Amino acid sequence: MHGAPAADPATEFTPEITHAECRKCGTRVAGLDGRYACGVCGWTNDWSEGHRPLPRAEDDPDFPGPGVPTGYPLAD
Ligand SMILES: [Zn+2]
Repeated sequence: MHGAPAADPATEFTPEITHAECRKCGTRVAGLDGRYACGVCGWTNDWSEGHRPLPRAEDDPDFPGPGVPTGYPLAD
């Protein structure tokens, strides 16, 4: 029987669902890996408060290679 190839658990990025209170209006908000966005008032916490570093472009299986624009304006 042929099915979709199983994802490799060693390489698949699985964010953890976390919860916190909005620091602006107090609404209970759910986030991923400690990053939150309040749907009531629009508050978001800083990305650096996340529980783990953001994946780099090189970690993306679709990364086209060094020197190729990825479309993510991350440079200062
Ligand atoms: Zn809020």
